[in-house]
Amino acid sequence: MMPTTPLPSPARTDRADLVAQLARNRTYDIAVVGGGATGLGVALDAAARGFSVVLLEANDFAKGSSSRATKLVHGGVRYLAQGNISLVREALHERTTLLANAPHLAQPLPFVMPAYRLWEVPFYGIGLKLYDALAGKAGLGATELLGRAATLARIPGVQAQGLKGGVQYWDGQFDDARLAVTLARTAAAQGALLLNHFPVETLLYQDGRVSGLVCRDAESGQSHTISAGCVVNATGVWVDTLRAQDSAAAGQTAQALVSPSQGVHLVVDADFLPGGHALLVPHTADGRVLFAVPWLGKVVLGTTDTPRPDASAEPKPFQEEIDFILGESARYLRRAPRASDVRSTWVGLRPLVRPQASPGAAGATKKISREHTVLSGPGGLVTVTGGKWTTYRAMAEDVLAHCADEKLIARRPAGATNVLRLVGFPEAGRATVSIGAAPGAHLYGSEAPLLQALPGADTWLADGLSEAMVRYAVRHEYARTVEDVLARRSRLLFLDAAAAGALGPRVAEILLEEGVATPGLDGFLALARQFDATPHTGT
Ligand SMILES: Cc1cc2nc3c(=O)[nH]c(=O)nc-3n(C[C@H](O)[C@H](O)[C@H](O)COP(=O)(O)OP(=O)(O)OC[C@H]3O[C@@H](n4cnc5c(N)ncnc54)[C@H](O)[C@@H]3O)c2cc1C
Repeated sequence: MMPTTPLPSPARTDRADLVAQLARNRTYDIAVVGGGATGLGVALDAAARGFSVVLLEANDFAKGSSSRATKLVHGGVRYLAQGNISLVREALHERTTLLANAPHLAQPLPFVMPAYRLWEVPFYGIGLKLYDALAGKAGLGATELLGRAATLARIPGVQAQGLKGGVQYWDGQFDDARLAVTLARTAAAQGALLLNHFPVETLLYQDGRVSGLVCRDAESGQSHTISAGCVVNATGVWVDTLRAQDSAAAGQTAQALVSPSQGVHLVVDADFLPGGHALLVPHTADGRVLFAVPWLGKVVLGTTDTPRPDASAEPKPFQEEIDFILGESARYLRRAPRASDVRSTWVGLRPLVRPQASPGAAGATKKISREHTVLSGPGGLVTVTGGKWTTYRAMAEDVLAHCADEKLIARRPAGATNVLRLVGFPEAGRATVSIGAAPGAHLYGSEAPLLQALPGADTWLADGLSEAMVRYAVRHEYARTVEDVLARRSRLLFLDAAAAGALGPRVAEILLEEGVATPGLDGFLALARQFDATPHTGT
């Protein structure tokens, strides 16, 4: 038998060690506040360029918007319709990069737009051929104009009555929260220190310039002081809180930068959309876009776009948003999903950037694109917000360019993350199982065999979730609570909230065995009820 090379052990994420590291080194080139897609992207890019980096996340990585996306890695067909070519081109480039660097978590997916009027096939077909042309070599597959029979063959669950044909095009899909944790782990492998459950409470100033911060260990209550040449505020829809502190330090008042907009998703069983293709309705009755996306063995339906200025950590859906998604799904799916078919409901907040009336008043402003904004406050705090998951890497490069322009860090060449394989990159260079399929060890990529070495490898708690995966989440993936495990390492809360609630007590026991003192079971059970309860109110 051929000798096999032992797999490298994945780095441990023991809390006590991470906190001890924080206590040891109190001076960094860059301190990043916020562990969503944006902050994690900045931390990874900076660490890959050799800067010393610390990242602090108040709750868990991807607890905010970054676990609540529609799960599309996309150029943005919508922006194409708006004529924003450069934005689409950038996102298509980033789509290629992400699919290449993390094939276990981000993969191509065919989408079909069903047409109920004959002109829609050539109309949408031409637009999507332009999308292909913009993608160029980065294209994932050619757009095809489909007749009625071919459309029904690809999306057998579509409403057949009145169907004239369809258009198939290609984009990507991903597991957003697992990608976030993977970015954190990849950044750590590049030398960054990352801590979750560690809110940043105060910014520190020296000679009127931000020079560090005070953060608090949410588990022990202990405060820590960090010095940094550059502090990056990547707190998503919450960026205005730290911006207000930065302006107040200079005796100014910050103008709000973000207008949060809420998007609701409903999850139903896979048999509502068989065939492995996503469905896109480009123009709903009230002019919105509706997606039905096969994801981790279920189907995600969404989304909405409702102003939500209160920016709660756990926003709740409005009944009319649920009615809208169910109503539109009923128009386009052969079998209309009812409220009682909904397995989970989640709500995310888009960090939409307001136009700044007088940027000079807030300090040097640099609008990078319509999608994301990087800006310095009067005390030197660098804020980044807006954009989308797909472009997190390009946003990180823009942030580091801005920090170098502002002389907060040395200028080092961009591109360090272009071909940087993320943790778990599969040895074969490609995934063997689709993200659309039920979850399982395949989502761990090259690390899948390592699960086998842990206790409980063959004890299955739910479909695709073994006891070993829970232990792995604590030992190697920064998980500290039942919610961290069941919402973001496993996605069970997002797939089937009742099943996740039922599993909570057992997961809490395993966390206790793994040395976690307060697994937060009660809080998780309340959250599971929220994810589960709303859709059933109408039944
Ligand atoms: C409904 C919806 C659908 C979407 N669909 C897609 C899609 O399909 N594809 C796509 O590419 N993009 C999509 N997006 C966009 C994408 O999800 C967001 O642009 C992205 O997740 C924003 O990431 P972020 O890191 O800026 O914010 P967040 O993910 O919200 O991260 C900010 C983090 O900062 C932390 N924080 C706040 N205050 C503090 C503090 N004081 N100290 C420490 N930490 C703090 C929060 O806990 C949070 O984790 C969607 C967004 C929504 C809302």
